[in-house]
Amino acid sequence: MDGGKTPAHELAIVPEGMIADLLTRQASFDAVEKVFAAMASGDAVNFPVVREALGHEDALYGFKGGFDAAGGVLGLKAGGYWPHNLERRGLINHQSTVFLFDPDSGRVKAMVGGNLLTALRTAAASSVSIKHLARKDAKVLGMVGAGHQAKFQLRAALETHAFDEVIGWNYHPEMLPGLAAVAEEMGLPFRAVDLPGLRAADVIITITSSFAPSLLADHVSPGTHLACMGTDTKGKQEVEAALLARASVFCDEVAQSVTIGEAQHAVASGLIDADSVTPIGAVINGTHKGRQSADEITLFDGTGVGLQDLAVADAIVTTALARGMATVVPI
Ligand code: NAD
Repeated sequence: MDGGKTPAHELAIVPEGMIADLLTRQASFDAVEKVFAAMASGDAVNFPVVREALGHEDALYGFKGGFDAAGGVLGLKAGGYWPHNLERRGLINHQSTVFLFDPDSGRVKAMVGGNLLTALRTAAASSVSIKHLARKDAKVLGMVGAGHQAKFQLRAALETHAFDEVIGWNYHPEMLPGLAAVAEEMGLPFRAVDLPGLRAADVIITITSSFAPSLLADHVSPGTHLACMGTDTKGKQEVEAALLARASVFCDEVAQSVTIGEAQHAVASGLIDADSVTPIGAVINGTHKGRQSADEITLFDGTGVGLQDLAVADAIVTTALARGMATVVPI
């Protein structure tokens, strides 16, 4: 085994328990930034998402797949949400696994635990948007949401940009100390605010499971960059649709943004056109200028695409093989 590639007759297995040791936030950021660029230049495509209610254990199960011809990565993430796992089995409710295939032959190459990977690739997406769209002099990071993903989002944002302070609001205020602990661990003060208090933020990350807007257009100051990360399903909504009409809207993938992302509401109500939403890969590639002025509000609608999972899984497998940490089995 060398060069991080499995020979044609072997399958590399990287279990969930190893991901934390193998995937740095920087590696996740680099993989996601690269694949967003490949998507915008037409070198990588996501396949239609399958999501089904199993009628068993109240579970939602599905596949997110794609092919990155530029990176030579083909595969899918299979999994979903089993709401009774924690209480009945002591397992987390979100469960997923990534499978990678050799695009030349179709043989299966790797099987990678997908739970931590999902949190890290989601945090990487908002960080990529902060790098490319936030004002360079942004000082105050605002958080809307304080659940499982919020902590990953906060850590990644603080590693991406030099903020001075974190402020936060959550629908369930009792969850905010968990977020404060992450800020303090990263050496920054944390202040709980009400929603209008988010006007003090230069960058705002929203990461809730809400089905009605919390953050209104009036709660956001000119020049702010928003990364809206929680809305990944039809019907979910974190921010007022009028805010998208005031902002320059960017996304991971336009087709998802306007159907299951935050932009679904502004498009459905005729406040913005689907054509006005720009894939962030165009900014990374330099074919779109991105932020044009210090007063502009930029909004990244991060819906989560399969290619993010595959890009990060591929990086994990390469590292695991190079370090001799993958279990390699003949096939
Ligand atoms: P979680 O259950 O741990 O946290 C949910 C958060 O939403 C908490 O902060 C909670 O207080 C808040 N919330 C709940 N009801 C609310 C309401 N009515 N109004 C406002 N806030 C409310 O969930 P999580 O794992 O942190 O995931 C958060 C969201 O991110 C989910 O919607 C999930 O589907 C989504 N997600 C998106 C991606 C992506 O790629 N974009 C990836 C993973 C998860």
